[in-house]
Amino acid sequence: MKIHIITAFPGLMEGPFQESIIKRAQEKNLIEINIYNLRSFTKDKHNQIDDYPYGGGPGMVLKPEPIFDCIDHILEQIAPSDSKRLIFLTPQGKRYDQQHAKELSTEEHLIFLCGHYKGVDQRVRDYWKFDEISIGDYVLTGGELPALVIIDSVVRLIPGVISDMNSAATDSFYNNMLDCPYYTRPEVFRDLGVPSVLLSGNHAEIEKWRKQKALEITIERRQDLIKDDNIVTNKTNDE
Ligand code: SAM
Repeated sequence: MKIHIITAFPGLMEGPFQESIIKRAQEKNLIEINIYNLRSFTKDKHNQIDDYPYGGGPGMVLKPEPIFDCIDHILEQIAPSDSKRLIFLTPQGKRYDQQHAKELSTEEHLIFLCGHYKGVDQRVRDYWKFDEISIGDYVLTGGELPALVIIDSVVRLIPGVISDMNSAATDSFYNNMLDCPYYTRPEVFRDLGVPSVLLSGNHAEIEKWRKQKALEITIERRQDLIKDDNIVTNKTNDE
């Protein structure tokens, strides 16, 4: 997968791609990350990327020309047969979830446009066919952190990125369930023990316990996620 990020603040993206799983995914050539500085696509001597909104009012708006030129530049590098998604980060977008992450993880190219200030000139949004995505009902200063959130959640679903894919498949939301509790050594810490079933070595019992706990936590915290088939599956496995 090739990830293209259009931003007026490339410095915001530097750290997170140099660490841990995303760093290793790049080293293994499973993903490539290209960051495009919007200012490099300006043609005036001040490298102006924003301007006052028509009609007045507070805040600045990202100008359309550098964004159009940058998207054109990125699309020129992509073969027409390659699958791609253009994504605009905005609080007005569809609320992001794990299902969306799964869909995006099968694309060959993801192109992210990060807004800033009051946002981008509306003509950018009208012209290009973006998936407009929000990461939640709150407002951030820019689309850089939302882009990082989405990239992180997508990249870990690409086969080979996480050494054991079963790990991602048992995480919260993967099957409309929250995940179960985990424990590691020591066996007793500050008089707090570990559930004995986890020490039993009985893999069938451990699996049953984990499913039961995941179900209990999901019912307690996120009943909205529960589908009938989750309960049926769990009952069948328990019997
Ligand atoms: N005026 C915009 C509105 O109210 O919809 C908010 C602009 S916000 C200050 C600047 C930029 O941050 C947005 O263009 C968007 O790219 C990004 N942003 C802020 N909150 C976001 C969220 N919850 N999800 C995705 N992107 C967000």
